[in-house]
Amino acid sequence: MPKTKKVGATRGLGTRYGATVRKRYVKVITELKKPHRCPQCGFVRVHRKSVGVWVCSKCNFTFAGGAYTPITKLGVVAKRAAKGMPAEEVEKQAAKAEAATIESATEEETE
Ligand SMILES: [Zn+2]
Repeated sequence: MPKTKKVGATRGLGTRYGATVRKRYVKVITELKKPHRCPQCGFVRVHRKSVGVWVCSKCNFTFAGGAYTPITKLGVVAKRAAKGMPAEEVEKQAAKAEAATIESATEEETE
């Protein structure tokens, strides 16, 4: 019997686009496909309707979020800034978020 092929979100892509890109794609898409918690009713029923548009199938709450996840780090910072937090603190948070992104990026490269 032939070895069972490992398939996931990259099924249909075959050997194309490079292993690193496919790995990254799986990471993003699995996060996108799994149900998320609704900020309105708390049920884990939120699905993406379109790029950046998320809808809860329980309470029909529709809201704007990230392209691939309902809540992004940058979105949280922007929300805080919009609420009227002192600019210094917002900048500090942004720097922290940026540092975290760079950290995760370098982690990926060393893989
Ligand atoms: Zn809901």
